[in-house]
Amino acid sequence: MSRRPPSLSPLFSELTRLEGIGNKTAQRLGAKGITRVRDMLFTLPRAGIEHRRSVQGAALPATITVEVLVGQHSTLRTQGGGKARHQVMVQDACMTFPIVFFNINRRYLQRCLPPGERRIVSGRVELFNGMVRMVNPREILRLHEGRSPPGFAPLYEGTEGVPQKSMQRASRAALKLLPNLEEWIDPAQKHAAGWPDWQEALRQAHNPKQAADLAATAPARERLAYDEIFAHQLTLALVRHKLRRRAGVRSIAEGKLQEQVRTALPFALTAAQRLCIAEITTDMAQPVRMNRLLQGDVGSGKTLVAFMALLVAVEAGGQGVLMVPTDVLAQQHLHALTPLADMAELRLDILTGRDKGAGRKAKLAALAAGKIDILLGTHAVFQADVQFADLRLAVVDEQHKFGVRQRLRLGQKGRAVDLLVMTATPIPRSLALAQYGDMDVSILNEKPPGRRPIRTAMTAMEHLTEVESRLEAAIARGAQAYWVCPLIEESAHLQLTAAQERFKRLCARLDANKVGLVHGRMMPHEKDAAMARFHQGEIQVLVATTAIEVGVDVPQATIMIIERAEMFGLAQLHQLRGRVGRGAAASACLLLYQNPLGAGGRRRLALLCATEDGFKIAQEDLAMRGLGDIIGTAQSGLPRFRIADLQEQAPLMEVAQSDARALLARDSDLTSRRGEAARVLLWLMEQDQALRMISAG
Ligand code: ADP
Ligand code: MG
Repeated sequence: MSRRPPSLSPLFSELTRLEGIGNKTAQRLGAKGITRVRDMLFTLPRAGIEHRRSVQGAALPATITVEVLVGQHSTLRTQGGGKARHQVMVQDACMTFPIVFFNINRRYLQRCLPPGERRIVSGRVELFNGMVRMVNPREILRLHEGRSPPGFAPLYEGTEGVPQKSMQRASRAALKLLPNLEEWIDPAQKHAAGWPDWQEALRQAHNPKQAADLAATAPARERLAYDEIFAHQLTLALVRHKLRRRAGVRSIAEGKLQEQVRTALPFALTAAQRLCIAEITTDMAQPVRMNRLLQGDVGSGKTLVAFMALLVAVEAGGQGVLMVPTDVLAQQHLHALTPLADMAELRLDILTGRDKGAGRKAKLAALAAGKIDILLGTHAVFQADVQFADLRLAVVDEQHKFGVRQRLRLGQKGRAVDLLVMTATPIPRSLALAQYGDMDVSILNEKPPGRRPIRTAMTAMEHLTEVESRLEAAIARGAQAYWVCPLIEESAHLQLTAAQERFKRLCARLDANKVGLVHGRMMPHEKDAAMARFHQGEIQVLVATTAIEVGVDVPQATIMIIERAEMFGLAQLHQLRGRVGRGAAASACLLLYQNPLGAGGRRRLALLCATEDGFKIAQEDLAMRGLGDIIGTAQSGLPRFRIADLQEQAPLMEVAQSDARALLARDSDLTSRRGEAARVLLWLMEQDQALRMISAG
């Protein structure tokens, strides 16, 4: 099915088709992302106005519409000669109360609320010092303009410049265009949840009768949210299904290479590492393609798990590739893994953007001839001309730095390559399901033993001199420290300048030979040189931009100083802090902030001082910033849900995932009656990726 079902056509027509929506209004709505009838239908009222005979007896505060007899006007001056406050006494069917206006022209007020006349006012009614009052009403109408029976009217928010009446009229008109669609929700689920049919759900959601009807848990709204979530999960399930259906290659290893490496390691694997390695090894031996996520907090030892998985690919006679987001990280992995590769007697090489000309050609030739067993690198490893002799496994490190789309593209690249992606960003389960719903998950929930907690403290920039003195003392004792410079979003140039200034100042303050600098604009070999010197302990203080944010591993470094910490996100701070506390020595992290520090900033930094639990931090982050902010929907590939609220409706995500997978298990081509209905849903929800997959067969 490569064309939209005709039954949906009315829903995809222009807004101007709706009664009451002219060009101007359509333009204004378009600016809010509402361009077609379907968008109008999926823009649900978030609040309601109660039409009452009297404000008496209403549960306050509430937005109320009521007919009143206008009484006396008076002007009150707030103390200190501030803004004038006007007050108009009015009387409804049962009681007298004031309407209070701030910042309004008195003459205008006289005109719209003339004493002795009747008007319909609607606005927020609240209790103030025990007295009922209405504040800054949103509408004042003459009787013939607004007479409506007592009841409840929807209030559409976020549509400034479009009168509520137009919104209401347009949604009424849109509701008349609803086609009759087959049910796509599993009947048992629908019944158990008590959800109405799709048409009925839309009607109810646009016509709330009371405040409870506006709650996310109201059956109509919940059903519509589920539709969105289900469509998304169906897309992920299709991706998963398709990957699995395409025959994979069995990579079977007895574990000879793994054993060689394991016995040579100076430490024992953690139980979690052993479990994850076993899960991956088993998965790779299956004739279906592996599509697996390895989730583990910073420092949990993901690199080693990845390496063990790569060994399976090699022992089975193939090749493996490990992709990382930054150059620094690729070099570091090369450094850390080379001794392990030597133990297993296999050939490891690196490919990044800095490989050029003849050198690059030679590497590509070696790779194509199967003379390189494991390739490390940045996204350079997935350029079109990079050919493997027999690629079996692709590992993507720090997956959160890439997006869902990039990941899906990657899976489509190799023929039957097993895929392992790794991420350190612990995210709540609902989010994990939304982002990685197409994958199987392995979790590293244990850190290597002997790690000491990182002491974290916050202090103001005013104490810079003191901080420098303490750093000087620590260095004299042989400690190594990172000094991370402020993140300046607007300008990479400013960020660089800040880092260079800090570098100069620290060179002047401390032994200049002991201080190094790395930043994103440096030549790659300079970067390597600085990192290598820090690694070897030649330099003890590494001034850095966020180039070191992900993955860098220098176990003997024990001090992390983050300047202007308030400008970083919680997850990023957690990542940065994770650069220390990797060895046996006690570590410390200092969060330097600039005064004045806002309440939100203070809370974030205090949370970091209080816990090292990445999961807790992620959850708080979610609560403080909200979802969209954290994952940056556009980049993450998550759809912009109009109705569903992933934070509030997390359980629906789980239901949708298992339902979507079950549907495909029974009807992988979506040709059954319900399968057809589900296709219509995919069209309705514009799940292009899924639709392409279905039509490609
Ligand atoms: P991350 O999960 O953040 O990528 P890494 O793979 O960089 O963590 O590992 C962090 C550090 O822990 C490395 O120095 C690594 O050598 C070490 N490590 C990994 N596994 C173990 C283990 N089982 N016991 C002790 N140290 C380990
Ligand atoms: Mg890592």
